[in-house]
Amino acid sequence: MTMPTTTLKLENCWMLLAGRRVAKGDLLIEDGKIAAVVERDCEPDRLVMPGLVNCHGHTAMTLVRGLGGGLPLQRWLEEAIFPVEAKMTPADVRAGAVWGIMEMLAGGTTCVADMYDFPEETEAALADAGMRGFTCRVGLNFVPGRLDECVKYAENHPKSHICIHSEYLTDEKFCRALADANRELKRPLHVHVSETKKEHEECIQRHGRTPVAQIAATGLFDHGGYAAHCVWCTDDDFRIMAEMGVSLVHNPTSNMKLGSGFARVPRAMKLGVNVALGTDGCASNDNLDMFEEMHLASLIHKGLARDPTVLSAWDVIEMATKNGAKALGTDDAGEIAVGKAADLCVAGLGSAHLAPALDLPNLVVNSMGAEDVEMTLVGGRVVYEKNEAGGAFAGGQSVASARSALLASVRRLGLA
Ligand SMILES: [Zn+2]
Repeated sequence: MTMPTTTLKLENCWMLLAGRRVAKGDLLIEDGKIAAVVERDCEPDRLVMPGLVNCHGHTAMTLVRGLGGGLPLQRWLEEAIFPVEAKMTPADVRAGAVWGIMEMLAGGTTCVADMYDFPEETEAALADAGMRGFTCRVGLNFVPGRLDECVKYAENHPKSHICIHSEYLTDEKFCRALADANRELKRPLHVHVSETKKEHEECIQRHGRTPVAQIAATGLFDHGGYAAHCVWCTDDDFRIMAEMGVSLVHNPTSNMKLGSGFARVPRAMKLGVNVALGTDGCASNDNLDMFEEMHLASLIHKGLARDPTVLSAWDVIEMATKNGAKALGTDDAGEIAVGKAADLCVAGLGSAHLAPALDLPNLVVNSMGAEDVEMTLVGGRVVYEKNEAGGAFAGGQSVASARSALLASVRRLGLA
């Protein structure tokens, strides 16, 4: 009997399974889900792990990769980024999003939470590529009519989330009105929080409360959410987040590149906050490699605490997978277990830096990189497969044509 096309078997693999177990064997996928985990003795030449979940990105910022390097956050935004973004058209955002999605899929990322202008372009690009993702209309005070646009976008895009850029770019009236509209929509909030000391302290001066407490007071966290950065968050902020189901999205590269500092991730975890990982945009990172975020997250907290037992390899892997899925409300994915969605990252183990494979979780966090990914699956469908032409993508778009579109936009924006 011929196997139905929805069935796929990944054989001879190391597998990172739910419950922090490492096993050898085969994975059977049927109808988009993990149908069986067959543990057996074999000689694995690849590793299967849950697909990586990038919980904070500005995907189309591939257009401005590396722009304004060396500037502090406010000057970086106002002098380097905002003037270019003001010139971006929907076509530019589409080209940037398509390119960013290719980069993420080629690095084993299966889901992204995106925050950017023209979100319908990113949403369409995600659908074309077969990647899971959540877009949002970014709440900003200074754009006339934006509140209505935010509400309409959420109403017309059932899978989108609500968003304010940050406390400092939206006033209380805006936040309360969006929270009121969200009583029916019931969406989680995507937001930047306490990224810089200045932002955190100015909020306290304005409202007598931290950004987390202020946003919570407006009702915008009533249906949960995920807050990027949280570098300056207090213990009370973490308690509010734990209580309201707000996840902390740790962005170690971005926070270091912009000199913002280090989120107190071990403390947040201790106080019950769900901690996920994100790359942030390509101008403050400057790539969308979630393996690099895992590596940095693992190292910096050990170094800061002067304690190598802080954040185990499994802690960090779960931040990039299971916790990310929880943050975005896609708990049906994020782990390898029977019945879970087959959102998977398959990495080869043939490169010099991956041998010998003695401790798989440690190898994933400390040795592996996006370039080791050979195949990415979303809902059991192969959406990326490595090849000599830069990869085959489910959407059918070639790397060469996506690159041409990106470069045409970069030229039109006056960047090259
Ligand atoms: Zn951001």
